[in-house]
Amino acid sequence: MKKAIYAGSFDPITYGHMDIVQRAVRIFDEVHIAVIQNPDKSSLFSLEERICLIRQVFDDQPNIIIEGFQGLLIDFSKKKKIFTVVRGLRAVSDFDFEFQMALTNRSLLPTFDTVFLMTDHKYSYLSSSLVKQVAMYNGDVTQFVPPTVQTALKEKL
Ligand code: ADP
Repeated sequence: MKKAIYAGSFDPITYGHMDIVQRAVRIFDEVHIAVIQNPDKSSLFSLEERICLIRQVFDDQPNIIIEGFQGLLIDFSKKKKIFTVVRGLRAVSDFDFEFQMALTNRSLLPTFDTVFLMTDHKYSYLSSSLVKQVAMYNGDVTQFVPPTVQTALKEKL
């Protein structure tokens, strides 16, 4: 059984993330969405809220598993015994950081590999922070996030 981890903050999940997940499940039998609890980064939604929103989105797909984690991704990877991580690449600007992170993770854990999926052109500009900014000023986010997330944003902001 081929398994992969898709890690991120998902604050909140967008159509860009969802596209990567749906493409990853065509490659892997099981995809574990690992939601980061990052103490350095203040998030709009709590870890529980972010997990809950993602669960609602992939409700009918038992091969997509959603979990929270803290600490190093390689430690989560060892715990789960899943050594492949999927990341999305939006633009050249993502590359530097992703390249650094992939190499660092591999030097810490040689069995660890990162697989990159190019964003769909429709979502190449889309990020959670952009969605939050638009929502904060009452802008229309219907083309960026699913209805459950739209409602959650309205309630939160
Ligand atoms: P962000 O970078 O928007 O804060 P995350 O930390 O939640 O998002 O990102 C998790 C993963 O999803 C990263 O690999 C990121 O590059 C990818 N990702 C985020 N938005 C998109 C998008 N619009 N298209 C493709 N991949 C994306």
